[in-house]
Amino acid sequence: PKSKLPNVGTTIFSQMTQLANEHQAINLSQGFPDFPADAQLIALADEYMKKGFNQYAPLGGMLPLKERIAEKIENSHQAIYHPETEITITAGGTQAIFTTIATLVKEGDEVIIFEPAYDCYEPTVELFGGKVKRFKMKAPNYEIDWNIVKNLVTEKTKLIILNNPNNPSGKILREEDMQELIKIVKGTSIFILSDEVYENIVFDEKKHLSICKYPELKERSFLIASFGKLFHITGWKIGYCAAPKALTEEFRKVHQFNVFCVNTPLQLALADYMKDDSNYLYLSNFFQEKRDFLREGLRQTSFELLDCEGTYFQALKYDKISDKNDFDFAQELTIQHKVATIPFSSFYQDKMNENVIRLCFAKKTETLEKAIENLAKL
Ligand code: GLN
Repeated sequence: PKSKLPNVGTTIFSQMTQLANEHQAINLSQGFPDFPADAQLIALADEYMKKGFNQYAPLGGMLPLKERIAEKIENSHQAIYHPETEITITAGGTQAIFTTIATLVKEGDEVIIFEPAYDCYEPTVELFGGKVKRFKMKAPNYEIDWNIVKNLVTEKTKLIILNNPNNPSGKILREEDMQELIKIVKGTSIFILSDEVYENIVFDEKKHLSICKYPELKERSFLIASFGKLFHITGWKIGYCAAPKALTEEFRKVHQFNVFCVNTPLQLALADYMKDDSNYLYLSNFFQEKRDFLREGLRQTSFELLDCEGTYFQALKYDKISDKNDFDFAQELTIQHKVATIPFSSFYQDKMNENVIRLCFAKKTETLEKAIENLAKL
């Protein structure tokens, strides 16, 4: 058949993980923890399966889990979502993103995204006939110039996609950014998709500013989060979308024909496990230690450490080490130095190369130690 996505290949995450495996390299490319999830959570999953909760969930998700999510959002951001009508459990963050775009975007609609951008946004917009308008955030600070963003808005703008904290740059949005965004959408019918899957991984006492803290933004937003990042279970593929009732109704019309519903026993296990908020409130400290361990280890090398305010990704500029483009450099690092990373150019549609690579530090100390040892030889 004629490809609907002629410019898309296999994702860089799959490519680099495969290359890492082929060459027995330490895999700091695709973002996933190499340490186990909490045994208590696994035991809960086991228990619910044994108790017989093995049939379809309601299409919006299991009520206890939606209730715990509503409580988490209220406690963290003082925002109210009704569990029955405003929260939908999805098969991971990616499905929530896909379904939001499918719900909103029609042929000719324009969607604003910020690059470096997570790889699924643009192709999904394209699949539904949308046109992407991009603002490029650049190394080393990845700042947003909102005057330029304002000029990207036209009467065709349907959606703005945010990713806060940003994967891959680790940048978080400031109060000023949120205020500028409010000014831009005020009086328009623009929707917002806010991908906040790393919301609980923010460092140095900084605060994550969720879209839902701002009533003017919340009313037009689809807020997306992921249990994969929250509980070290990327393979469970469970996340959620919180959005006002009318938006959720439209979202669910698509969701029901996309996956219909999500794994029942795992939803129940997550609901129980979420009752204790210490099961996730430790995350920022936990990952900050790992970030600092990695940064300390690389300080003596010729890599330049860019800021990392959140997420479990550290960006490194390597222009003192090699003049190869980032894709070739990442290949060389994997094959010859046995450390797999992700080239930043994969997050820019025009493959802009700023000689920056991304390292995932959601890894055991011994994994990070070995990677540091290899990178220190460069
Ligand atoms: N979110 C993960 C990352 O950024 C990748 C997930 C995937 O492979 N699709 O590395």
